[in-house]
Amino acid sequence: MKLRIDVVTLFPQAIEPYVKSAILGRAQEKGMVKIKVHNLRSFTLDRYRTVDDYPFGGGPGMVLKPEPLWRAVKFIENYTSSAPRVILTSPQGSLFSQKKALELAQEKHLLFLCGRYQGVDERVITLTGAEELSIGDYILSGGELAALVMIEATVRLIPGVLGDEESIKVDSFYQGEFGPPQFTRPRVFQGLEVPEILLSGNHALIEEWRKRKAQEKTARVRPELLSVAKDRQE
Ligand code: SAH
Repeated sequence: MKLRIDVVTLFPQAIEPYVKSAILGRAQEKGMVKIKVHNLRSFTLDRYRTVDDYPFGGGPGMVLKPEPLWRAVKFIENYTSSAPRVILTSPQGSLFSQKKALELAQEKHLLFLCGRYQGVDERVITLTGAEELSIGDYILSGGELAALVMIEATVRLIPGVLGDEESIKVDSFYQGEFGPPQFTRPRVFQGLEVPEILLSGNHALIEEWRKRKAQEKTARVRPELLSVAKDRQE
């Protein structure tokens, strides 16, 4: 097994079917990755299985209590006898990116904590050393989708997980910029023809054309990515 991933959530049913499907499912069947989902509620000790409480200082909503999250992290550390890299899904984290995914794909053990409500008690971050990661500047109702996004982006980068490793390199962001436009059959669709050059069989010219198209679109839609691409080539 190359990577073990634990996920702590109040909604295991939101995570489980997805990680059993498609590429994540196959990566697990092939024994390359193991993804284990834990219900946060099973780390409560009181009879009401309380996971949240009112915020100190007042204000709307509820906050996830520190004890169950802390116990979940300790439990996972103990029974796997490894020191996972702990990630807290959070809109206040640094932005997740393809670069971060490549970094996570090098790890042996990741542990994702999914927040809910108004978020988690701040002391969980201090005590577990969790790294806060965000998937974008918007608010989700919970960390489940964010964890799934990061898990999927990471696992597909582990060598052997995708059928064709080369496909990773032609994807957007691998070189910093977008990937090229893609066409498949039929050659003419609704009167629109596939660009002639793609049928030429001249690989050098095709590469040049793809690079140019990719750069044009990146410059138009996300100009700030081009400086990243330039840095990477230097
Ligand atoms: N009150 C918090 C937001 C809580 S949203 C704040 O203002 O920062 C509830 C939970 O959803 C968070 O604890 C986090 O786990 C998850 N979440 C929401 N938006 C997210 C995002 N953009 N990226 C990652 N996780 C997010």
